[in-house]
Amino acid sequence: MQHSFDIIVVGGGHAGTEAAFAAGRMGLRTLLVTHSIETIGFMSCNPAIGGIGKGHLVKEISAMGGIMPKAADQAAIHVRILNGSKGPAVRATRTQADRDLYRRAVRRELESCTNVHLFQQPVDDLLLKDDQIIGVQTQLGIRLYAKAVVLTTGTFLSGKIHVGDKTHDGGRAGASAAQSLSSFLRSHPQIRYGRLKTGTPARIDLASIDISKLDKQPSEYPSTPFDFWEKYTYPQQVDCYITHTNEKTHKIIQDNLHLSAMFSGNIEGPGPRYCPSVEDKIHRFAHQNKHQIFLEPEGLETREVYPNGISTSLPYAIQQRFIRTIKGLENAHITRPGYAIEYDYFDPRDLTPWLASKWIENIFFAGQINGTTGYEEAAAQGLLAGINAALMVQNKPQWYPKRHEAYIGVLVDDLNQQGAQEPYRMFTSRAEHRLLLREDNADIRLTEKAYELGLLTSKQWTQWSEKYQNIQNYTLTLKDHVIHPGDSASIYLDEQVGIKIQTATHGHELIKRPEISTTAIQTILPDTFIDTKALEQVIIQAKYAGYIVRQKQEVEKKSKQSMTVIPKDFDYTLVQGLSNEVLEKLVQARPHTIGQAERIGGVTPAAISLLMVYIKRYQPIERVAT
Ligand code: FAD
Repeated sequence: MQHSFDIIVVGGGHAGTEAAFAAGRMGLRTLLVTHSIETIGFMSCNPAIGGIGKGHLVKEISAMGGIMPKAADQAAIHVRILNGSKGPAVRATRTQADRDLYRRAVRRELESCTNVHLFQQPVDDLLLKDDQIIGVQTQLGIRLYAKAVVLTTGTFLSGKIHVGDKTHDGGRAGASAAQSLSSFLRSHPQIRYGRLKTGTPARIDLASIDISKLDKQPSEYPSTPFDFWEKYTYPQQVDCYITHTNEKTHKIIQDNLHLSAMFSGNIEGPGPRYCPSVEDKIHRFAHQNKHQIFLEPEGLETREVYPNGISTSLPYAIQQRFIRTIKGLENAHITRPGYAIEYDYFDPRDLTPWLASKWIENIFFAGQINGTTGYEEAAAQGLLAGINAALMVQNKPQWYPKRHEAYIGVLVDDLNQQGAQEPYRMFTSRAEHRLLLREDNADIRLTEKAYELGLLTSKQWTQWSEKYQNIQNYTLTLKDHVIHPGDSASIYLDEQVGIKIQTATHGHELIKRPEISTTAIQTILPDTFIDTKALEQVIIQAKYAGYIVRQKQEVEKKSKQSMTVIPKDFDYTLVQGLSNEVLEKLVQARPHTIGQAERIGGVTPAAISLLMVYIKRYQPIERVAT
């Protein structure tokens, strides 16, 4: 094997695979080094992709040609549209994946890129030359060289697994932790680090569950897939089931809280607020006498079931006792005990908005190592880090989407500015411009850029260009088309849709009505709107036009100031009038733009005005490209 590459990606999880694929698609010779080639694309916890905010990220990854949406569609055994009755901005796709099909699809997609090479070895050290990364060294002492390295080591750095008072080192169940790499990074004088925690529930054998007692939740298949490019045949669809904890369950947990690793003081790091352990829920929400549990199959060829909602670090015997108090689980056989894992993360405030380290040249960090939780958050960062590692090697300007352009932009900006005091997960509520950032328009927002970066094939570009052209044409057609009272369209609308046309109505006014769907328009003007996705886009844009225009105006107003670049070596002590607290925060965060400075907690509008005065006075104004 040759030992020199353009880019080395460490880790074959959700961030690592996207990073390697993006860099490979951009034409760079890329090596993905990971503990085990068999676990590439492995899901450490719940085999589900998407959900509120997370589904938006997956659609954006698809718009940029990534792997996750393709694998999720090929492995989807249960599909749901969350918030289906609400507006399109918060509507989100969620699929339950067959764990094995998912992993195999990720590897297949990754290996379809001939620029990507795989290598199985733990990476123990980074090779540096004057604060610049030049490669990595593996456990066997093999030295591998590259112009850029992307670190995506997930929960493995100094990972410690807890079940009750039993602890052992591990990156996740059945895998060793990465100690040496962690010590290496910890020893860097400027890189800040901390400990975080996450957990997973016990798995249960379906044959031991009495599903006849439970509420069934069928799949909503067919529904909109994640991938914009290919239409995959979904595997067989299966049902999920719903059950609840009860007072007996809560009493067992409450009585044994002191034995939980979370409560005994064995775990230092905070866990994910929005995905708490069952003991956390019972402690924090003591007034609630039940909590919902979704029983989700792990795959088509396994009987293992994931009980979503009861992640725990209680001792195994207590897990067994409390699980057996739950309806349908009275005879549950546990196939794997639940556990908590504590791991090192490295402060994302030490990264640029394109995920490069501020302290070591040519190294990028992506995924759970940055304090996030979730496959989708990891994959989105991996994509961005892979793109930027490639751009760096190509000597091209770095790229990252802004907050009003993509959830990926919101994610990295939040991480950059606020760090991760607890595991960070994405929600639609984190995006102030969420009307602009819908699942349905992710390709309209990002695909052109993805093509320019070299992430897409010419076939994908043609496909997107046709859709884009159709959107323009359909908009014009609907502006021109008039429906008159009494004509066949108005009769159809009256009889089938419940809309009475009283005066001549333009098509683009009609589509603003809430009752109007793509089917109605395709029926009125058959053969005109063949491309349903393009038509859907035209309808959504028309229905929410008022809000969208207002949000765009807000973005424009703010963006001029917030895009102002703060020079890398800007001396904040020159700015007279800043409080010590603000000064300290700015020096510590070293924001890249005024927009980022604005979002640092405690940095007041007055401080921003002072900063603008000094930047204007002392340096020529530079703005990041919009
Ligand atoms: P990972 O998927 O962890 O991949 C890391 C990769 O790096 C692995 O392939 C590993 O082998 C490799 N690696 C690590 N160190 C080295 C090294 N030194 N040399 C070579 N290879 C290396 N997310 C949720 O959204 N909800 C949950 O409820 C949830 N629960 C979780 C429970 C547990 C127990 C765990 C472990 C994770 C949980 N997660 C949960 C998180 C989810 O699994 C991660 O967010 C996601 O997998 C992170 O992706 P990643 O690519 O950053 O890292």
